[in-house]
Amino acid sequence: MEWLKELNEQQKEAVLSTEGPLLVLAGAGSGKTRVITYRIAYILNMGLANPGNILAITFTNKAADEMKERIKRLVSTQSFSEMWVSTFHAACARILRMEAHNIGFSNSFVIFDTQDRQQLLKECFERLNIDSERLDIKYVSRQISNFKNQLIGPSDVYRYGEVDSHVVEVYKLYNKLLKEYNAFDFDDLLYYTVVLFEKNPDILEKYQNKFKYILVDEYQDTNHAQFYFIYLLSQKHRNVCVVGDDDQSIYSFRGANIKNILEFEKVFSDAKVIKLEKNYRSTRTILSAANEVIKHNHYRKSKRLWTDNLEGEKIFLYSAFDEVNEAEFVASSVKNLIESGFVPSGIGVLYRTNAQSVNFENALSAYSVPYKVVGALRFYERKEIKDIIAYLRLITNPHDDLSLFRIINVPKRGIGNSTIEKIKVLSEKYGISAYTVLLERAKFDFDKKTYEKLNNFISLIGDLKAEAENLSVTQTIKLVLDKTGYLESLLSSKSEEEFQRAKNIEQLISSAAIFEEENEEPTLQNFLNSITLSSEEDDNQKEEKVSLMTVHAAKGLEFEVVFLTGLEEGLFPLVRAEEPLEAEKELEEERRLCYVAITRAKKLLVLTYANNRRVFGRFSSRQKSCFIEEIPQEYIQVVYNPITKTYQTFSAKINQTEDASISNLQIGNKVQHRKFGVGKIIWLSDDMKEVVVDFEKIGQKRLILSYANLKRI
Ligand code: ATP
Ligand code: MG
Repeated sequence: MEWLKELNEQQKEAVLSTEGPLLVLAGAGSGKTRVITYRIAYILNMGLANPGNILAITFTNKAADEMKERIKRLVSTQSFSEMWVSTFHAACARILRMEAHNIGFSNSFVIFDTQDRQQLLKECFERLNIDSERLDIKYVSRQISNFKNQLIGPSDVYRYGEVDSHVVEVYKLYNKLLKEYNAFDFDDLLYYTVVLFEKNPDILEKYQNKFKYILVDEYQDTNHAQFYFIYLLSQKHRNVCVVGDDDQSIYSFRGANIKNILEFEKVFSDAKVIKLEKNYRSTRTILSAANEVIKHNHYRKSKRLWTDNLEGEKIFLYSAFDEVNEAEFVASSVKNLIESGFVPSGIGVLYRTNAQSVNFENALSAYSVPYKVVGALRFYERKEIKDIIAYLRLITNPHDDLSLFRIINVPKRGIGNSTIEKIKVLSEKYGISAYTVLLERAKFDFDKKTYEKLNNFISLIGDLKAEAENLSVTQTIKLVLDKTGYLESLLSSKSEEEFQRAKNIEQLISSAAIFEEENEEPTLQNFLNSITLSSEEDDNQKEEKVSLMTVHAAKGLEFEVVFLTGLEEGLFPLVRAEEPLEAEKELEEERRLCYVAITRAKKLLVLTYANNRRVFGRFSSRQKSCFIEEIPQEYIQVVYNPITKTYQTFSAKINQTEDASISNLQIGNKVQHRKFGVGKIIWLSDDMKEVVVDFEKIGQKRLILSYANLKRI
C-alpha cells in the first residue's frame, strides 16, 4: 500500500486504528475526508471486511460519488457495488425499500420532497380549518421537522414542553396522510428507520452484523436522529469512525447539533480522539484570514490550523456600485481567469442566499462563460419535469394522491376544479385514496360527462401501469409522453418557453438513459428514488463549468479560486433574531458559514460586496459585512472602490493577457466589446479608469476599463 505515504502521521494513525470508536476532530482542509477514504481502502486491502460490510455516510450525493471514485483508485479487484457510500437519507431509503413492510408501509413507498411536503401541509390546514394567516405553514413545517429530527412522534410532543395544540393536530394528520399515501418525507426516512430498528430487534441485528465498519463525514452537522441511527447500527462491532469540525457546523436550523460531538464522546467513552492541525488546501494568507475570522466566535473549541503552503496572493476585495456591477465584475474576472489558464471547474462563485444567483447567471451568460447553478434551479423542480415524474410516481404507486391531483387535468382533459374537489371530499369522507374513488366511480354520483372523462383517465393510468411493467425507464417516459400527448402539446406551441420545456423533457430522457447505464438495477422505482434524493446540494452534470452555489452547498468542496459575494450587513451575516442572545447565536453560525466559505479556496480568494442593492425591487444602500473588517488589513488588497475611487488592478495579477493597446485610448476611438459589439468611445474618466461607449446595437454604456476587455479596432 504505497499510498499510505500520502498521509501524515496523525492521518495515518486515524486510518490504521480500524477497531473501536474513533473521533477525528479537525479544521478545514486538514484531510478528514481523505482519512475516511483511505481508511475504507485500507480495510478492504487488508481483507478486514468485504465492500458489503462498509457503511460510509457523506453529506451530499456528489461527495458520495467522489468518495467511491477515490476508493476505486486505491483498491484493486473488489466488487464495489455492494459498498454503501451515501447520504444518511439514501442509506435509510435503501433500508426502508427492503423493510418498510415491517412497520406498516409498503416497500414501494414514494419520497416527498420539500414542495410535496408543503402541499400536503396546506391540505392539512384546510382539513383542520386552520387559518394560515394565524399559523404560518412554514413555521409548522419547521416544527414538525424538528420533532422528527429529535425522534419525537406526535403523541410524545407534550412531554417536551409548551407546544401550540394546532401544531400537534397538524403533525398528527400530516403523518396520517403520509401513511395513507404510502409516502415518507425526508425526515421520515431517518425517523422510521430508527422506529423499524427499535421495533424489530432481529432486523436491527441483521444490519448490525452486516455493517462491520461505519464511517461518517461532516459529523458536526448530524442531528439527533442521525446520531441515534449510527449508534444503533454500531452497537455490535463498535467500529465507528466519525470526522468533523465544530467550526463548520452550519445546519443548526436543521437540528444539527454540536452536542452530537460531545454526545459521541460520552456514549463511546472509550473513543480514541485524533486531531489534525495541518491544512493542505489553502495558501497561508487564505488560512490566516479564516483563522482570524473564526477567532471572533466565543462558543468553540479553540484550535489553530497551520500550513506549509506558500503565502500566496493577497485576498482581493471589490466594492461594487450595485449587485449588477458586482456580477459584471465577477463574470469578467472569471473570464480573465479562464483565459489565463484556470479551468472553469476550479472556480466557485459563492453567495449566502439562492436568490443572488440570477445576476451571476445573467452576467456569466453574457460573457459566454459556461456555468452551473448547484442547487437552486433544480432541474427536477421544473414544472414539466414534475408533471412527468408525477405520472411515473402514479405508475409505481397509484395511491399517491398528490401526484394524481397534479396531473389529473394535465394536459387538459376537461376535469375541472369542482370535480377535483368532489374527489377530495369523497376520499376524505371514506378514508380511501383518490385513485380508489376513481376506481369505484360507479358508486358515486358523477354526472355522465364527467364520468366519461374519469373513465378515460383511469384507463390511461391503468394502461400505463400495465405496459410499463416490461419497459425500461426511458421507454416508460416515452410511453407516458406518447399516451398523454404531453410533449405534443408543448411542441405544437410556438412560444420559447414551451420550447424550453420540451428541451427539459428531452433532458429528462437523457438523464434516465444515464441512470440506466450506471445502475445495476435500473428500475423505475430506483430512478424515482435517485431523483428525489438528488438533494438541493447536488448536481449531476460532470462538464467543465464554473460552479455557482450557496455557501451551505459548498461544504466539503474546494476550488482553486473562490469568489465570495454579497458580503454586506443584513445579507452575510444574515441575522434575523431580535432577541440579543438569539442574535448572538445566529451571528456565530453566520461566522462559521463565512469560515466554511473562505476555507474552500486553494489559491485565490476574491471578496465582493455592493454599496447598493435592490431589496424587494427597491434600491437601498448597504454596509460592508463585519466579516470583512475581521480580516486584518494586511491580508487584503482593495481592487476598486467606486465610492472613494481608489483603484488597483486585480486582473493584471491573474491575467497577463490584458490588451496593451487599451492604455492610450482616446475619445472617438472605435472599440469592440465581447457582448455589446462595436461602439465608439464618447467619454473617459480623468483617471482613465472608466469609459462610456456608444454601442451600435445597444446605445451608451458606462464600463470599468480593466474589466470591460475592450479591443481597439
Ligand atoms: P473540509 O473540512 O473542508 O471538509 P477536510 O478536512 O475533509 O476538509 P480534505 O478535503 O480531506 O480535508 O483535504 C483537503 C485537501 O488537502 C484535499 O485536496 C486533499 O487531497 C489534500 N490533502 C489532505 N491530506 C493530505 C496529505 N497528507 N498530503 C497531501 N495532500 C493532502
Ligand atoms: Mg471534508
